[in-house]
Amino acid sequence: MAAPLPNPAAVTGPARGLSPVHAVAAVALVAVALAPLLAPAFYVTLLNYIGLYSLATLGLVLLTGVAGQTSFGQAAFVGIGAYTTGVLTTQFALSPWLTLLLALALTLALGYLIGRITLSMGGHYLPVATIAWGLSIYFLMGTIERFGGFTGITGIPAVSLFGFTLDRERHFYYFIWVVVLGALWLCANLLDSRPGRAIRGLKQGSGMVEAFGVHTTNTKTAVFVLAALLACLSGWLYAHLQRFVNPTPFGINQGIEYLFMAVVGGATSVWGAVLGATLITLLKTWLQDLLPKLLGQAGQFEMIVFGILMIVLLQHAREGLLPFLQRWLPRRPRALPPAEVPLARRTMPSPGSAVLRVEGARKTFGGLIAVNEVSFEVAAHEVVGLIGPNGAGKSTCFNLISGALPLTSGGIRFLEQDVSAMSASAIARLGLGRTFQHVKLVAAMSVVENVALGAYLRGRTGFIRSALRLNGQEERAAFAEAMRQLERVGLAAHAHDAAGSLPLGKQRIVEIARALAADPILLLLDEPAAGLRYAEKQQLAALIKALKTDGLTVLLVEHDMEFVMGLVDRLVVLNFGQKLAQGLPEEVQANPAVREAYLGA
Ligand code: ADP
Ligand code: MG
Repeated sequence: MAAPLPNPAAVTGPARGLSPVHAVAAVALVAVALAPLLAPAFYVTLLNYIGLYSLATLGLVLLTGVAGQTSFGQAAFVGIGAYTTGVLTTQFALSPWLTLLLALALTLALGYLIGRITLSMGGHYLPVATIAWGLSIYFLMGTIERFGGFTGITGIPAVSLFGFTLDRERHFYYFIWVVVLGALWLCANLLDSRPGRAIRGLKQGSGMVEAFGVHTTNTKTAVFVLAALLACLSGWLYAHLQRFVNPTPFGINQGIEYLFMAVVGGATSVWGAVLGATLITLLKTWLQDLLPKLLGQAGQFEMIVFGILMIVLLQHAREGLLPFLQRWLPRRPRALPPAEVPLARRTMPSPGSAVLRVEGARKTFGGLIAVNEVSFEVAAHEVVGLIGPNGAGKSTCFNLISGALPLTSGGIRFLEQDVSAMSASAIARLGLGRTFQHVKLVAAMSVVENVALGAYLRGRTGFIRSALRLNGQEERAAFAEAMRQLERVGLAAHAHDAAGSLPLGKQRIVEIARALAADPILLLLDEPAAGLRYAEKQQLAALIKALKTDGLTVLLVEHDMEFVMGLVDRLVVLNFGQKLAQGLPEEVQANPAVREAYLGA
């Protein structure tokens, strides 16, 4: 039995109308168009640089700000763009347009290779690795004779466009800013899409997005390559603006400055890149002018001021400065037209058939045995409770079943398939949905977007089609589904609130809606009632019963004995990683061993 479809007119998707982002865009567009006509030459030069920095910073906003992967090596990719065209146009007389293609191809290959190797390392290895190859590319550019050593390459030709030679700064200005605005549009589209929601989810840790079928290494690598391509484009433009290159602007210092720009602007929107590039560039110019006069001696004093500002910013505005601007602008989500074709649904297994078999599952963490030879089964349309005192191994059990953790020994069968060695995303694809004991929503994303992330595996649009906004039908279907699930759990009224603004108990319910959006056969709920008030618990119990009626199979971890008693068909009790008892709720409640281990405690 399916829940009734919501009124199509009420189905709303991501903000695509006059959002703050669009308002800023309109003002920026007019300012950008008029600037070279009104501003003195010095400021046109400055604006050209701001455009180039924005492009490279945009890549970092996506990679570091949104996806959470810190890179100090962005400047090196700018250098690759600049040097490829510098060398090939001056020494091989190739056309700048051809060298652009070659530079992008080279960056794609290098970015893929470096991304593949470093991104899977995780932790602090990525930033350290980016410093290492950022330095090596810098010294490579400075050392190779063909590249002109540290003096660089001169005589780079101007770019011609439709027979018009862009050899004046004022003309090149328009070229740069058309490219920048185009890149912003593409990246904003990308973030507001199926792969974009996966990218934004990465910051919550790989485990969360993998549970919805996202291949995290591929996604991170793709973002890394995209960031590198934007940097390369910036470098190519730089070379043809300056008509000369040397290694200095592509060193590790500039890599750090790009990070500054990304952090200062903020990652809540792609416009953070423009804001950060503008503020840092203007501030640097003014400070370079002002500080030596104030202090009476020459020196790079602006770096000291930057250092202090960065510390203040990290303490008081981790999200950067853009959210302060956005606060003053109206937020108005636009209604999406109804979905023509709803997402396909799975057929649920017939009642009584085996859905899950845990067979002698064992998990050790060093010397600690978290799950010890645990076996139990769950049949289709059953609601089974997994209970036990704190630290009994319940969540670890969930992580083994969902593939988030590998088994030490034993086996797990899901729908009669051996999933013991499968990845979390492969198991999700088979029809397993889950929530997390420690809520993992993307706080800055709206509730409905978070739920739409759950439907990741029910769509297929990739990066390119999303960036070009060729994903309309699939997006409408995904948002219609997300709204349907929000109505099912009773949170439709909060669809457009930022997920992080809800109380924790409600966030847990959003997690249930997100898991349901995947159309799972088996739903794993880890302490769904934690943080709920009495009436909310009653609603949750009613929801779980309704899910059972709709043909779902539910395995839930719970603490509140009273809550599970009236709700579940069967109970499995864990204690110190071992199965202590199982059976009907009344049997388990009466079991003396359980009373001592669990109820007594
Ligand atoms: P429960 O969910 O029943 O409260 P858990 O499954 O979270 O218990 O934890 C079971 C035991 O395993 C605890 O002693 C816990 O400290 C330990 N544990 C859980 N996850 C890890 C981990 N990633 N590394 C080390 N020990 C862990
Ligand atoms: Mg737990």
